Amino acid sequence: MKRLSDIGTIKEILGRHGFTFSKALGQNFLVNPSVCPRMAECSGAGAGVGVLEIGPGIGVLTNELCRLADKVVAVELDSRLLPVLDETLAEYDNVKIVNGDVLKLDLNKLIKKEFDGLEVVVCANLPYYITSPVIMKLLEDRLPVSAVTVMVQKEAAQRICAPVGSRDCGAVTVSVNYYAKPKMLFGVSAGSFMPAPKVDSAVIRLEILKEPPVETDEKTFFRVVKAAFSQRRKVIANSLCSGLGMNKAAVTKLLDEAGVPANARAEQLSLDDFAAIANQINGGAL
Ligand code: SAM
Repeated sequence: MKRLSDIGTIKEILGRHGFTFSKALGQNFLVNPSVCPRMAECSGAGAGVGVLEIGPGIGVLTNELCRLADKVVAVELDSRLLPVLDETLAEYDNVKIVNGDVLKLDLNKLIKKEFDGLEVVVCANLPYYITSPVIMKLLEDRLPVSAVTVMVQKEAAQRICAPVGSRDCGAVTVSVNYYAKPKMLFGVSAGSFMPAPKVDSAVIRLEILKEPPVETDEKTFFRVVKAAFSQRRKVIANSLCSGLGMNKAAVTKLLDEAGVPANARAEQLSLDDFAAIANQINGGAL
């Protein structure tokens, strides 16, 4: 079979199937032959490992994952790609395509059913219109996976991988760091895709933590994070007042008891600071 990473081959297959790209589904397919092997290698795919892929497209990355892993299950929303994938993955018997919306599927159930006895990792070139919801679903659903290796927009990658407490830190940075250890792997230029998007991309790896790094009530912790970053320019005391619907005196007391300066900004706070505030809200019990 001709190599799928060849742009001529990809064009020929898509043309033959009468496929047209859907912008709404974030369809920018990888055509740079060096990216998928590198990404698959970094994902941890190998013997004894099952890989969950999201959005296989025409199966360029899927091919590399099938080569390395014991089993690959790929969730693709666009049913027009099913006959294409039948053709491009024909040589593998360790792959299953699930036609569905990753945001609506019960991924815990899917993983349990498909990967019994295997270590599981996620590897995907994500549709960018749902980057954050997909990443947060993968983390919040507490899937039995050891790592998530995903391609996202460069700016999203920088935000997620910024150190907590640094200027580039945002709510998503703190949220991801509650569940995982993020790492920037490598950049991918816009020209590596067909059609080429307007922005560059980057591959990041989230190593899933066995336990959260702070002891806190999760729901309150995320309420505080959301409130703190809701008005980035304001000092923490003011953003918590409006975000949590509390009066200034109560917030000042809360921050004082949590040991967090009232004039700090959300991006300067550590995970311990957010947990301390959440724990004070819950009566200082934790
Ligand atoms: N993996 C391929 C590649 O690297 O060339 C395609 C990546 S493309 C950026 C994103 C893929 O995700 C497309 O195939 C698109 O149809 C699919 N997709 C979009 N929304 C989805 C959803 N909600 N659930 C599952 N797949 C989705």
